[in-house]
Amino acid sequence: MSLETVIGLEIHLELATKSKMFCRCSADHFGKAPNTQTCPVCLGLPGALPYPNRQAIDWTLLFGLALNCEIPLEAKFDRKNYFYPDLPKGYQISQYDQPFAQHGWVEIDLDGQPKKIGINRVHLEEDTGKLQHQIVDGQKVSLIDFNRSSVPLVEIVSEPQMSSAAEAVAYARKIQAVARALKISGADMEKGQMRLELNLSLRPKGQKELPPYRVEVKNINSFRFLEKAAASEIKRQTKILATGKMPDQETWGFDAQTKTTFLQRRKEDAHDYRYFPEPDIPPFHWQPAEIEALRAKLPELPDQKKARLVKQYSLTADQAAVLIKKNLVDVLEKTVSFARGLSPAVIANALINDRDGRLSSLPPAKLAASLAPKTSSFSAEALEAVVEKIILAFPDEAQKYRQGKQALIQFFIGQVMRETKGQAAPDVAQKVLVKKLS
Ligand code: ZN
Ligand code: MN
Repeated sequence: MSLETVIGLEIHLELATKSKMFCRCSADHFGKAPNTQTCPVCLGLPGALPYPNRQAIDWTLLFGLALNCEIPLEAKFDRKNYFYPDLPKGYQISQYDQPFAQHGWVEIDLDGQPKKIGINRVHLEEDTGKLQHQIVDGQKVSLIDFNRSSVPLVEIVSEPQMSSAAEAVAYARKIQAVARALKISGADMEKGQMRLELNLSLRPKGQKELPPYRVEVKNINSFRFLEKAAASEIKRQTKILATGKMPDQETWGFDAQTKTTFLQRRKEDAHDYRYFPEPDIPPFHWQPAEIEALRAKLPELPDQKKARLVKQYSLTADQAAVLIKKNLVDVLEKTVSFARGLSPAVIANALINDRDGRLSSLPPAKLAASLAPKTSSFSAEALEAVVEKIILAFPDEAQKYRQGKQALIQFFIGQVMRETKGQAAPDVAQKVLVKKLS
């Protein structure tokens, strides 16, 4: 029986607000001395009352809009009850049946194949404290740092509509790019600002219904680990299904050392958490005009920016994507305005190949001047000699180019620029390279 993979992702993002979700403590907790940013509210002391952070709510609504969600005109917080030492109140303030945003989508693009991935919901909650397992005086102990307790956390739940690890990575990268474009989260996975949970199951190829089980994998903190965790689960579940059994509904952890998943616990259902409305925070009601005012604040998002660069400057989609990823769109646009007789594509290529950041750190006028064709400093003969030398120095790349890997032309232009210390005109270099390579 041939199987297909069904993947959904839950992504947690820490918001970059100044203060925490329900108190005035600083939310900037990374690398701070333990328990220096706490108060009765985020320590969950008896009688302390939460007061919601307006900025965090506005940013969650904005995020929902950027992810093409509908914004319900009524929303509320709920208590999610469970015991764990890093959760001082014995419950997490989260959102259950009335999240701030729902029913959206993002588009991913794998090898020119666009696909829409549905977003089930975008809700706001508070982060937990952090356990540190240490040895003190020869004793194994667990210490708790509450600096992270109650930092605003947005959770984005996708529909189970991804069918490979590559799609899941593309989706997670898109969510990260949107959050960064909105400047609402650093979304830095190494700092724990972005954390992934994978839901994965398998079904017979062609089956429309979702599989009757799903396995959750927690603590994934890099895109590489997301791929490894998916591969590890696909292998494990395929084995079980091959014996005619059904994988159990469980929560697994990802072990970064062994690159495999390990069983954490049986999966809870929503009813295990005894959700109920947070009695200390009244529900929220929005006017449609308030939502529209927020929508008007949306900046240009990565997809829109990419489409505009392609259209306005005749760049390829790949060039546009690299410039956005490297944060070089501003430099390009300013330089274009100074450049006479220099095509935007030439500037784009020079910036893309600018590995040491020398070009992009120049003032735009200087950068434009440095890229302008310099017929005097490099004769056609001298350039041809340089190009021939470089082609000989990189035979593998040259062969791959000839076999159709046209994108390698950028690599060769970069080499010419390096060899000529930026003296050659990139567009002339490209012409000579194309001629000599073929
Ligand atoms: Zn506090
Ligand atoms: Mn959550």
